[in-house]
Amino acid sequence: MAEGKLIVITGPSGVGKGTIVRALLAKHPELCLSISNTTRDPRSGEVEGIDYQFISTEKFKAAIAKDEFLEWAEYAGNYYGTPKSGIQLLLNQGKIVLLEIELIGARAVAEIFPAAKRIFILPPSISELAARLNGRNQDSQAAIDKRLARAKEEILAKDEFEFQVTNQDLNQAIIEVEQIIFSV
Ligand code: ADP
Ligand code: 5GP
Repeated sequence: MAEGKLIVITGPSGVGKGTIVRALLAKHPELCLSISNTTRDPRSGEVEGIDYQFISTEKFKAAIAKDEFLEWAEYAGNYYGTPKSGIQLLLNQGKIVLLEIELIGARAVAEIFPAAKRIFILPPSISELAARLNGRNQDSQAAIDKRLARAKEEILAKDEFEFQVTNQDLNQAIIEVEQIIFSV
């Protein structure tokens, strides 16, 4: 069976990565999303095992020590990591696997899986990104400030990515990401 495809979707927090990924999963149930581990507290409406595996910092550090993550990073005061388990199995089954992760993790995955397609999602502007983070109404002002500071650094790295999609019109952005995923 042909090896599947690994797709890395990155870009600043609040740009719309999760919204785009959810739309693609609804439209293409054959796509597989890797569920990350995080030490962040769940936001209202987030579901254990669907949005993340929410774990303690102690457990996260133990998983690092046991080499259980494909990649991991500290982001805005919390840890996030992609569990290794399952990803190679899905790729061996010919599946398309999506990773929705931040910049440091995206760089690490490029080293491990050079064939991964890496997509950077850009906001139309920093002011629109701030409006989306505020409008999501889920994070404290301190968390939003950390995300915006980090966003400016992340956007400087956009040219490291072979694919860049500006999420201005959501439907257009979904179509562009879809075309990248399903192109050969
Ligand atoms: P991320 O996963 O990148 O942190 P989200 O998917 O949570 O971002 O989106 C952040 C907020 O922006 C959400 O409230 C979402 O509904 C909104 N959003 C996403 N895409 C667009 C868009 N193209 N135009 C306006 N708002 C958007
Ligand atoms: P949030 O707290 O907004 O859900 O996520 C913060 C950032 O962490 C986002 O940019 C998100 O894509 C990223 N992220 C989520 N899971 C992972 C992961 O497993 N690894 C890495 N490196 N980043 C992740």
